[in-house]
Amino acid sequence: MSVPISGKVIKRLTLYHHILSDCLLKAKEYISSQQIAELLKIDDSQVRKDIALCAASGKTNVGYNAPELKKAIEQLLGFQAQKAAFILGAGNLGSALAKHADFADYGLDIAALFDIDPAKIDRLINGKKIYPLSELHHVATHEQLVNKRRVEIAILTVPASAAQKSAELLVQAQIKYIWNFTPTILSVPDSVRVCNENLVGNFLEFTNN
Ligand code: NAD
Repeated sequence: MSVPISGKVIKRLTLYHHILSDCLLKAKEYISSQQIAELLKIDDSQVRKDIALCAASGKTNVGYNAPELKKAIEQLLGFQAQKAAFILGAGNLGSALAKHADFADYGLDIAALFDIDPAKIDRLINGKKIYPLSELHHVATHEQLVNKRRVEIAILTVPASAAQKSAELLVQAQIKYIWNFTPTILSVPDSVRVCNENLVGNFLEFTNN
C-alpha cells in the first residue's frame, strides 16, 4: 500500500470487494456507488470518496465496471503481495483459521503452525505443517534463509494463560505483527504491533447500539 489509508476505509473497501466478487459470480458487469451504498446501508458519497482512492472512475448512468474496480481495490490494498504468517496454537480456532482458504486471496499465506501438544506435531492442516513450539526460531530462520522470505506476522490462538509467554517468543523470532485472538492484553515492545481481535467487544458494540 503506497498511501496510508485509515483502518475504517480499509474495512469498507474490503466490504466493497466482497460485493464486487458477488457481482462477478452473478455475471453482473456494472455496479453503481448507490447500489453499493444501499447494500451496506451507508452514504453514497462515502462510497464514491473511498472508491476515488483507487483511481477508478465510473460511467454515468451505468456505474463502475465490477471486475476493474475489484482489481483496483486489490492493487490499492496490496492483495497480490503475499505476506507470510505463523499460527501459534493449532487448536479449534487456530485450525479453523489455517483452513480458511480465502486468506490466500487477500495476501495472507500461512507458512506454518506451532503447538505444544505432541499429538498434533507433524500433522498437516490445509497442507501446512504443525511444528513443536520449540522449533519456532529454527523455522523462522529457515523461512528467511532457504525460502527467502521473512515471516513477520503471527496469529495467536493459544489459551489465555500461555499468551504473554508466546508473545515474548514471537518477539524473539522477529515477529512484527501479532493478530491476537486471545483475551489477554499483551505486553510487547513498541516496535511490535498488536491487533486484538475483540469478538466479545464487537458483539456488545453491535447489540448495544
Ligand atoms: P483450543 O484449546 O482448542 O486450542 C489451543 C491450542 O493451543 C491447543 O492446541 C494447545 O495445545 C495449544 N497450546 C497451548 N499452549 C501453547 C503454547 N504455549 N504454544 C503453542 N500452542 C499452545 O482453544 P481455542 O478454542 O482454539 O481458543 C484459542 C484461543 O482463542 C483462546 O485464547 C480463546 O480464548 C481464543 N478464542 C477462541 C474462540 C473460539 O471460537 N474457539 C473465539 C475467540 C477467541
